[in-house]
Amino acid sequence: MKSVLKLMAGAAIIASMHSAAIAKDLVVGVSWSNFQEERWKTDEAAIKAALEASGDKYISADAQSSAAKQLTDIESLIAQGANALIVLAQDSDAIAPAIEKATAEGIPVVGYDRLIENPAAFYITFDNKEVGRMQAREVFKVKPEGNFVFIKGSSSDPNADFLFAGQMEVLKEAVDGGKIKNVGEAYTDGWKPENAQKNMEQFLTANDNKVDAVVASNDGTAGGAIAALSAQGLAGAVPVSGQDGDFAALNRVALGTQTVSVWKDARELGKKAAEIASALAAGKTMDEIEGVQTFNGGPKGVAMKSVFLAPLAITKDNLNVVIDAGWISKDAACQGV
Ligand code: BGC
Repeated sequence: MKSVLKLMAGAAIIASMHSAAIAKDLVVGVSWSNFQEERWKTDEAAIKAALEASGDKYISADAQSSAAKQLTDIESLIAQGANALIVLAQDSDAIAPAIEKATAEGIPVVGYDRLIENPAAFYITFDNKEVGRMQAREVFKVKPEGNFVFIKGSSSDPNADFLFAGQMEVLKEAVDGGKIKNVGEAYTDGWKPENAQKNMEQFLTANDNKVDAVVASNDGTAGGAIAALSAQGLAGAVPVSGQDGDFAALNRVALGTQTVSVWKDARELGKKAAEIASALAAGKTMDEIEGVQTFNGGPKGVAMKSVFLAPLAITKDNLNVVIDAGWISKDAACQGV
């Protein structure tokens, strides 16, 4: 009798372990900053798929580029029962109270793609400094001297400064030696292409169109800069960088109006973030996350548990990589070529 009971208990444990593996029923709340941009839809699909696979539930909110809305979005995700949060911060400072509230309630937070400098939060991203280096390197290969313009990201996003730091690391010697002149540098409010276009127009006017290269920090801002160049008949004559592997940008790479788009496989980032959020919600510690390392390169130098993924520069020469990876079809990439 005793051994039968033991057996039954064992079976119950196995059954409950099994159901835990296929249906944890945890709720993961994702707070998006600006879902209108192309790339986040890819991230979302990957997060959803991973949560579905682990038997967890996806809920979300979009702050529509408003730092204030993101604060109430996070409260509402918590009120809806989120067991873990994934947060793409619109404004790294403004978000602080919402993150404090969540962590005080024992809800794990994963800072997604953009740094949220709170040691209680996990941080997952691509190596943003390296993205910046890749952008500058490819533009520099085409134009090793002349007048350079820097179309930076949003000032409320720490990635903007990581990218710029990486860019300057590559160009420093040429700048110091006088080969490269920085003839214009501006943040792009909200990363909006129309703001990048306005800044680029001003730099062109201020320099009598004598701009030799544009280091733009993502594909959206590259698009804005290229629109301004195009209005002056300069598209294709001036190298321009970007990042994200946006379809329009990869097509511009094929057409020759954009030099490089740094590809960050958002499918991987989304999948990993979802798995981490789900594991933390289920009680794993940050130190138990596979591949975890400590990052303290943020503005405040806070030591953060983090995971970094590797970016890849895509130019005309290796456009096939994103096509072979199923990121974009050959027809879409090469349209009009
Ligand atoms: C991301 C980029 C993105 C940009 C605008 C940055 O933080 O790293 O991939 O293009 O934000 O949303």
